[in-house]
Parts: sequence; C-alpha cells; structure tokens
Amino acid sequence: MRIVLLGCPGAGKGTQAKVLCARFGLTHVSTGDLFRTEMAKASPLGKRVGDYVKKGMLVPDDVVVELVAATLDAVPGGWLLDGFPRTLAQAQALDKYLVSNGGKIDLVLSLAMREEAVVARLAGRWSCPACGEVFNLQSRPPQQAGVCDKCGGKLLQREDDTEATVRRRLMVYEDLTRPLAAYYRSEGNFQEVDGGQSPEDVARAVTAVVDGVHA
Ligand code: AMP
Repeated sequence: MRIVLLGCPGAGKGTQAKVLCARFGLTHVSTGDLFRTEMAKASPLGKRVGDYVKKGMLVPDDVVVELVAATLDAVPGGWLLDGFPRTLAQAQALDKYLVSNGGKIDLVLSLAMREEAVVARLAGRWSCPACGEVFNLQSRPPQQAGVCDKCGGKLLQREDDTEATVRRRLMVYEDLTRPLAAYYRSEGNFQEVDGGQSPEDVARAVTAVVDGVHA
C-alpha cells in the first residue's frame, strides 16, 4: 500500500502517520524529519536546507525530489509519505517516479484544519528528539514539564514552530500545497478527514479510511 498524507502544518500528519504505519506495516517517509536529521548531523544536505527549514520556506523541488526518490528506492514494501509532495512539480515528479518504478498511489488522505486552530496547536507543540514522541501543552502535556514521558529525554520546541514562522508556513501551504487537493481529487483516490478532532478520533477516522481502501 502506498499512501500520501496531505494537510497543512500542524494538521497532525506526523502523529497520524505513526498510527497508520504501525497498523498497516508501512514505512514512514517524512521529508521534514529527513531534513531535521541531516541538519542535526550538519551534513552537506543539512547545511544546504537548514535556512529554508528554519525560516519555514520550502526547500527547492529538485533537492526534495532527489531525496525522496533515493529514500523510496531503499524501501522494500509499502510506504506513507508525510510532508511530500508539497508543490505541483513535486506531485508530478512523484507520478513520474511511480510510472518508471511500476507503482501507484493507493490513497491520498488529507487532514483538514482551520488556520487559527493550527497556530494554537503548533505554538504548544514540544517533542522529544531522542524518541520522536510529540506532546502538546494544551491537549497532551508531559507529566513532568520539559521531560519525555516515554524515554525521559529533554523535550524541545521546533525552531520553526514560533508564531511568525507558523504563519509563514501556512501562507506557503495555501499558495503551493493546497492546490494539490484538486490535483489528486481528479485522480479519484483522494479522501479527507477532519483533523480538528482529538488525535484519538482522527486516528479512528484515518484507520477506517485506510481499512476501506485495504479491503
Ligand atoms: P514538516 O516537518 O513537514 O513541517 O517540514 C518542515 C520543513 O521542512 C518545511 O517547512 C520545509 O522547509 C521543509 N520541507 C519538508 N518537506 C518539504 C517538501 N516536500 N518540499 C519542500 N520543503 C519541505
């Protein structure tokens, strides 16, 4: 199974990607996570993309497409893309990749959210760099402030989760990524879920959608 997860920043893509990948045995491919890992290593790719990521701007298409193609080449089974594609050019590059590799997207699942809800959600988001667990000061605070419940690691706020940068990321999303919904809708494998519900309710809804496609 090959799934593309769409949704604005803060719609809960990362959280729901983990739920779906665990349940359906898919490899989670998050371009944001891949970039943050490269930035933490200060690799040549990390240095190249660091400014874009910190400022909430999109990394150039050719850089992202090359990274995703190399990553998917190494994935043995099904996958779920989280944070890619983000532009029409990326969606077309993905289609081209799939044609030459003999695959197709089974489902494009979009998490719908209102802008104000996103700003509040992201401003309260803290995550654990050690194990990837995500907390939210409003909806899911850690038991001890600043400490991961799961592994005891020190929680950090993403550099691009400040309000000004979140608003810029949302503008970029509106301009460049939202049009992808129409692109995929016309292909007939597009479904939308309300991302504004509790994470548990969203998880139930996305699981039901994927169950339906899987059956
Ligand atoms: P995310 O974790 O998905 O919110 O991504 C964090 C940042 O990584 C984005 O704000 C962009 O700077 C960069 N990024 C991630 N995925 C892409 C993509 N598909 N195209 C361009 N830039 C991306």
